Amino acid sequence: MIDFRSDTVTQPCDAMRQTMNNAPLGDDVYGDDPSVNALEKYAAQKHGFASALFCSSGTQANLLALMAHCERGDEYICGQRAHNYKFEGGGAAVLGSIQPQPIENEADGSLCLDKVKAAIKADDFHFAKTKLVSLENTIGGQVLSLEYLSKAREFVDAHKLALHLDGARVYNAAAKLGVDITRITGHFDSVSVCLSKGLGAPVGSVLLGSEALVAKARRWRKVLGGGMRQAGMLAAAGQYALEHNTKRLSDDHDNALYLAMQLNTLSGFNVELNSVETNIVYVNVDANIDLAVMCQRLATQNILFSPGTPLRLVTHLGITKESVNTFIQALAAEI
Ligand SMILES: *Cc1c(COP(=O)(O)O)cnc(C)c1O
Repeated sequence: MIDFRSDTVTQPCDAMRQTMNNAPLGDDVYGDDPSVNALEKYAAQKHGFASALFCSSGTQANLLALMAHCERGDEYICGQRAHNYKFEGGGAAVLGSIQPQPIENEADGSLCLDKVKAAIKADDFHFAKTKLVSLENTIGGQVLSLEYLSKAREFVDAHKLALHLDGARVYNAAAKLGVDITRITGHFDSVSVCLSKGLGAPVGSVLLGSEALVAKARRWRKVLGGGMRQAGMLAAAGQYALEHNTKRLSDDHDNALYLAMQLNTLSGFNVELNSVETNIVYVNVDANIDLAVMCQRLATQNILFSPGTPLRLVTHLGITKESVNTFIQALAAEI
């Protein structure tokens, strides 16, 4: 199967499965699972935080962060395009009684700090209390610059706000910038990292933060039904992912660029090469090409993508240069 729908479709490799099989287990709700404890300790240290929490998903990790930073009637400022605003079912509002204050993302995915400043509410009982700014990196495959992150940190310090990062794909950002992950995570009060996307674990995310923040998040995780028992098999996969699969992400970025260049050789397909920063490729497709039909026909050849405008294709550890060539040949035969 050649699957461009998302980097969430990755399958655990044999070595990861072995690690899962051999993981020592206990009841994590009692704090007894050695593999979960090991992952949480390892993840905290690796990202420069005091504490970490193993979560069932990125959505859960973000929600727990928002609920740990904010109380009922508080507000977080985020981008209109933010996953934790647009694609998580409104969880912060639904379950946390936290008001989102979205502002338009800039073209590079950042939030203009002057616009954020204008959205901060005065201390007045007419308003929700602004507590937190939430950024996303990468966002739609785009990388926020280290200079921007420094400015955002100065900004929240000046305004006494906390700063959260939805870092579902933060390792793609680190690989692109060629820096240690702490150069990015060090600017934030909390970070969520997906283990189940490009890093190739089957399940899970980690939430990183201070001891107090993670203790609060741990409480909410239980309330939300996220207290798992012998979760060490999953945690061991997550630790394997962090230890072995971060460096290879640049292969995915190379394959994404190769994919974009090959698509540009087909009539009716056009990719702005500068827009391909990491592992996500957005393709403009001529209106006279019926993508839905093409999608169905390629599926019969075990090639999967989601039709859309623009067409979004994602590379990951299940996609090689040969997969790209096979895909391009199959597309060319359909045009
Ligand atoms: C995928 C994703 C999430 C959510 O992760 P799930 O594990 O699918 O819940 C959060 N933020 C971003 C930016 C993502 O891409």
